[in-house]
Amino acid sequence: MSQAPEAPAVGGDLARFVAGLPKAELHVHHVGSASPRIVAELAARHPDSPVPKDPELLVDYFTFRDFAHFIQVYVSVVKLIQTQDDIRMLTYEVARDMARQSIRYAELTVTPYSFGLRDIPDEAIVEAIEDARVSAERELGVVLRWCFDIPGELGIPAADGTLRLALDQQPAGLVSFGLGGPERGWPRALFKPHFDQAIAAGLHSVPHAGETTGPETVWDALGSLRAERIGHGTSAAQDPELLAHLARTGVPLELCPTSNVATGAVPSLAAHPLPAMVEAGVRVTINTDDPPMFGTDLNSEYLVAARLLGLDAAGVADLARNAVTASFLDPAGQATLLAEIDAHLAAWVA
Ligand SMILES: [Zn+2]
Repeated sequence: MSQAPEAPAVGGDLARFVAGLPKAELHVHHVGSASPRIVAELAARHPDSPVPKDPELLVDYFTFRDFAHFIQVYVSVVKLIQTQDDIRMLTYEVARDMARQSIRYAELTVTPYSFGLRDIPDEAIVEAIEDARVSAERELGVVLRWCFDIPGELGIPAADGTLRLALDQQPAGLVSFGLGGPERGWPRALFKPHFDQAIAAGLHSVPHAGETTGPETVWDALGSLRAERIGHGTSAAQDPELLAHLARTGVPLELCPTSNVATGAVPSLAAHPLPAMVEAGVRVTINTDDPPMFGTDLNSEYLVAARLLGLDAAGVADLARNAVTASFLDPAGQATLLAEIDAHLAAWVA
């Protein structure tokens, strides 16, 4: 399950174009971005952990038997993050992996409540990610922003803790407020008071919805949580009225094709609703979710999308522009990144 189930059948030329294409990523989890290289370093720091310390063995460790096993592995990696410096190192090294893929801007979904459970103080969590953010921008040319998300399965105490951390600490890089975890049994509306306060404080609303439940959860996220983008939203394809609403209002979807197959949200890449969504006029962005854990990266996801949509280099550049214009990067930053995309395409065509 850790490998992309169907390799993208597109030319090597397009792969080279995508590799050098300046990109933004809007749906990618902080701990879920820990590559075997990073996990090996964390495991070496904490030798009492069951996680292997050898990157080669870690590739096997990241081969999931099923979704329950994926959760088990994910939790074991979360448990490796025990100190402020672990958080700093993870964040900076994730940015290094992004720089290697020509990712210039990323909104990283951080779940600070899970670090609080390890007894890392709120101030220390924020100091670690902010220090890594400033260094990554200066040294690697990767601009990071944060989405603080509620681990929904931990209920109201986790929502309270996440909101308190966001409002009390107000990290400079924080732009949005999210909600993850299982959808079934955790209606989005349950967290309306938390989102109301986060929105009042100037944060954007970007909950997960419609990944593991039907289109009603997307409606719920749009109504109760005033979602400005939807995490996944794959099941929106089952509801023509919802697709029309998304197209009309311009609320973008953060699609993660390989993740959706790995978790069973869609049966196969060939059955992914991306083409139907584009056909309906919905704004789509391409993302990875938890890239090393799903055996993918953003370049691979762009190639998957290119194959599903039959895109050439110009079409792929349009997808990259979608992510920039759907981001919460300031207008000047967006203009710079859009110009870089234009220049890359122009050089390619020439
Ligand atoms: Zn996600």
